[in-house]
Amino acid sequence: MLSAVGTVFVLLVGRFLLPERKGAETGANRFRLEEYFTELTVLDESPFRDKTVREIEAERAYELSVVGVVRNGRRLGGALADTRGRPMRDLRISVTDRCNFRCVYCMPREVFGAGHKFLPHSAILSFEEIARLAGVFVGLGVKKIRLTGGEPLVRKDLHKLVSLLKKLPAELTLTTNGSLLARQARALADAGLDRVTVSLDSLDEATFQAMNDADFPVAKVIEGIEAAAAAGLGPVKINMVVKRGVNDHEIAAMAARWRGTGHIIRFIEYMDVGSTNGWRMDDVIPSAEVIRRISAAWPLEPIDPNYAGEVAERWRYKDGAGEVGVISSVTQAFCATCNRMRLSTEGSLFTCLFAQSGHDLKQMLRAGASDEAIRNEIAAVWQARSDRYSEIRTQETAKRPKVEMSYIGG
Ligand code: SAM
Ligand code: SF4
Ligand code: SF4
Repeated sequence: MLSAVGTVFVLLVGRFLLPERKGAETGANRFRLEEYFTELTVLDESPFRDKTVREIEAERAYELSVVGVVRNGRRLGGALADTRGRPMRDLRISVTDRCNFRCVYCMPREVFGAGHKFLPHSAILSFEEIARLAGVFVGLGVKKIRLTGGEPLVRKDLHKLVSLLKKLPAELTLTTNGSLLARQARALADAGLDRVTVSLDSLDEATFQAMNDADFPVAKVIEGIEAAAAAGLGPVKINMVVKRGVNDHEIAAMAARWRGTGHIIRFIEYMDVGSTNGWRMDDVIPSAEVIRRISAAWPLEPIDPNYAGEVAERWRYKDGAGEVGVISSVTQAFCATCNRMRLSTEGSLFTCLFAQSGHDLKQMLRAGASDEAIRNEIAAVWQARSDRYSEIRTQETAKRPKVEMSYIGG
């Protein structure tokens, strides 16, 4: 029998033990921690049952993981939690390690040039394999799936994967550089894609091409954004990675371009992903500065996240012209609420964007493992997770070997 008292205890534990995201001092950005627990119920054998709130307070945060127990491959008692009490909510699936751009901050041409060896077809998961794994993840509590890469739209017939994933009870989204979106938006929407995020780093032709290093024009990406909106994939989120001295002079112009359109521009702090982009802290424009620069022209105010663990911090124009987002993984680490699991192109699990290695699922899959065995493996990986790279980042850690973002999925 389930205990209502236990449920209350868990809510209290969440209040006391789960750290709030930095920046919550703004008040409007305060996290609704209860959201982590709305689906949690406590089993009679829960160690929280007979404890006072004071005793519970004294427990370490990782003990929350007992609330989401997986036994014999079945999830009992609610969300699966890692060693820091974080539930697994989002799954990012990299469908290809290839891309038709060579963005300087992601796949610099010196490294990903003609001599670079991409994965052979036999090494990458088939759509059926991806869909099967996605079903197991959803069974473990995943509520949102994002297709990414590499450039996901260079993978042939991606809409066929979308129609397989659409059968699952999870929100389905895609991140793309927009170059092939105009011609695929309708098929993706018809197959059941819910929304898209399009990356666009500048409206200025020379700046954009210097960043994508593939001579790709701005107008074509905007065409893709408009086609996506027309196909019902809006509001479109537009990601701009801001690099000091390269495109930061474009912040106000980008804000102006998307104000009042219903689309949401999000400014991303340049990160030390992978080992090839030569990241330096000096190249990072802190989100606070982005907000200051935009506010100088059009005053902004912070608003609540849509859900606990949302990556972007939301701000709205005081004059009602919509909202913008900032993703501050360098200056305001959000590891405390990080609920993302990543599945690489060749079927390895990564519990952090900055991980050095993954956990191979493809081998299990191709050796004929049951869904139950795979479920237990995924649950064990999540429950052992303690990642918090962005909280401990320094110029030194940035030099460590890390898996490339184009491989693991951004
Ligand atoms: N190719 C697609 C695209 O560009 O949207 C999807 C994959 S890309 C790796 C996913 C997101 O990661 C993009 O919005 C991209 O701008 C962002 N990204 C890549 N490298 C980054 C870096 N060093 N710092 C911050 N964001 C980065
Ligand atoms: Fe390709 Fe996206 Fe990386 Fe740019 S950010 S190189 S478009 S994967
Ligand atoms: Fe999540 Fe790792 Fe990023 Fe922290 S550094 S927010 S744990 S992916």
